[in-house]
Amino acid sequence: MNKNLHIPESFQVDINDFYNAVVKSTENYIYIVDMKQNISLISDNMYEDFDLPGRIVEDLISVWGKLVHEKDQKRYQDSISDMLSCRTNEHNLEYQVLNRKKEYIWVVCRGLLTRDEDQNPIMFAGVVTPIGGRGKVDRTTGLLTQEECKNTIDLFQNQGYEKGGFLLLGLDNFSRLNNLKNHIFGDTVLRNIAQMIVSTVPHESSVYRFDGDEIAIFYPQATISDMKNIYQKIQFYTNHEHEIDGSSYFCTVSGGIAMLGEDAYDYLELIKCAMSALDASKKGGKNRCTVYSPELLKSNLYTMEIINQLQRSVLAGMKDFSLVYQPFVSSNGLELKGVEVLLRWTSETHGKIGPAEFIPLLESDNSIIPVGKWIMEQAFITCKEWLNFYPEFVMNINVSYLQIIDKDFIMFVKHLLSKYNLSPRHIVLELTESYFVTEMLILKDAFKSLRDIGIRFAMDDFGTGYSSLGLLSQSPADIIKIDRLFISFINDKDHSFNRSFIEAVIKLCHSVGISVCVEGVEYIDELNTVCDMNVDSIQGYYISKPMTKEEFEKKYCQKN
Ligand code: C2E
Ligand code: CA
Ligand code: CA
Repeated sequence: MNKNLHIPESFQVDINDFYNAVVKSTENYIYIVDMKQNISLISDNMYEDFDLPGRIVEDLISVWGKLVHEKDQKRYQDSISDMLSCRTNEHNLEYQVLNRKKEYIWVVCRGLLTRDEDQNPIMFAGVVTPIGGRGKVDRTTGLLTQEECKNTIDLFQNQGYEKGGFLLLGLDNFSRLNNLKNHIFGDTVLRNIAQMIVSTVPHESSVYRFDGDEIAIFYPQATISDMKNIYQKIQFYTNHEHEIDGSSYFCTVSGGIAMLGEDAYDYLELIKCAMSALDASKKGGKNRCTVYSPELLKSNLYTMEIINQLQRSVLAGMKDFSLVYQPFVSSNGLELKGVEVLLRWTSETHGKIGPAEFIPLLESDNSIIPVGKWIMEQAFITCKEWLNFYPEFVMNINVSYLQIIDKDFIMFVKHLLSKYNLSPRHIVLELTESYFVTEMLILKDAFKSLRDIGIRFAMDDFGTGYSSLGLLSQSPADIIKIDRLFISFINDKDHSFNRSFIEAVIKLCHSVGISVCVEGVEYIDELNTVCDMNVDSIQGYYISKPMTKEEFEKKYCQKN
């Protein structure tokens, strides 16, 4: 390159000084390879930032090559062999490389090879530049930007390709995590999840940071099941607790899948479809993945109509809402211990709709707060009445996480206790297992205040989600309700796991003073099996289906 440059004889500087000056003047990484001996000198920052053996590295080209992301391997190796086979003397390549923090960062690597008269390589030297700051890469996550996603998909289509899978991910309750800790913590969570995704996805695919807490994956030529597999792998990671600097957190992800060449034919359409699929996952309760379908738009309209009707019911003083009560009994003697109150709602146009469907909708616009207060007041009134028949009667009330974190909640509970002159030992609040895990930090204070009043807690649906036995011993719950999932196969030989699981849960709970209720007992043989297991209480259709107040009173409250 500079063969013709004339350097005057008097201009003589120490080459080491020159090298040191250059290295100190840049944040880029500098390398010089002595090709004859195959040893290299690398700048201090390169040694510090990457997992390399020292400032002098033997066989740098292959040592460095091992750090290059697998999906960029082929291009990297091709570029090197082009040089070694004399096709070129220049190396200029963008790729991702693993740093010491175990993160893949984008770099551009440039270098020049010099040869002797016989064309044998003598020296290879150049610069590796991180390109995080150039708008191509998002600084927080190290992922490519949304702009790059558009470029990739446009280019893909311009090259004549048609089909590909697109997965849009949103972190669940990310803003809460940000508020609870701080933005730096939130950013680190996002970065960790992003880096996990990069190392999980197939090499042909690429990962992008979208707005806020959204991450997108584009996978050329993929099928729907390829995309579902990717989601499952990511979910496997996020369904576990993780830690940053000794501080643990839980952050699940929701996903929406849309297919290029099937659901959408250009970038913007593709994003729109994936967004409505993601939206459906969030509305459906989060921590799940939805595949786009044209019906989704219709079902969005249906959902909006139901939300509207629910709001009207609330405004009309809880019109069309009602309560039913399902008894639970002791395992020895099957004596009535109490009831669980369950909400019912009838739509003007669609008739009866199950709570599993409408409660997430009540939560979506916070209507669950006034509805929850109404349920609680009705339940307190009814409990007070039924105490006349059963002095140790217990009323179990399902509460949503949103209610517990509502600032008025504790005051409201205290107010009701005194208004109806009810002892707190007759009240149990049921909260789904997942919240005990994912939102533990936020709930801690509320749990404490409620327990100080004397209110007990039940961990509902135990075994359906995150269930870890280890968690039980530190759980603030007074009661564990084992989900019916475990009961339905209890006498099936192939499901001896379920039986062992329940037995282990009971043993562990009893050792730390937690009592156990088994839900969903439908048949006599299920009842006999759980009674043998020393559970504390039993609930299920075999004992009784949920009943209206009148039905309950007719069956259980007849004064002789
Ligand atoms: P959950 O708290 O687990 O309530 C138990 C559900 O299992 C009830 O369904 C009940 O009818 C049903 N069930 C009881 N025994 C059996 C059985 O032997 N077999 C079968 N197959 N099912 C049985 P439901 O009433 O449809 O409630 C569904 C979910 O909706 C509840 O699950 C709870 O999470 C939620 N929910 C219901 N009422 C309320 C409420 O007032 N507030 C809140 N936040 N959530 C509620
Ligand atoms: Ca429940
Ligand atoms: Ca349950």
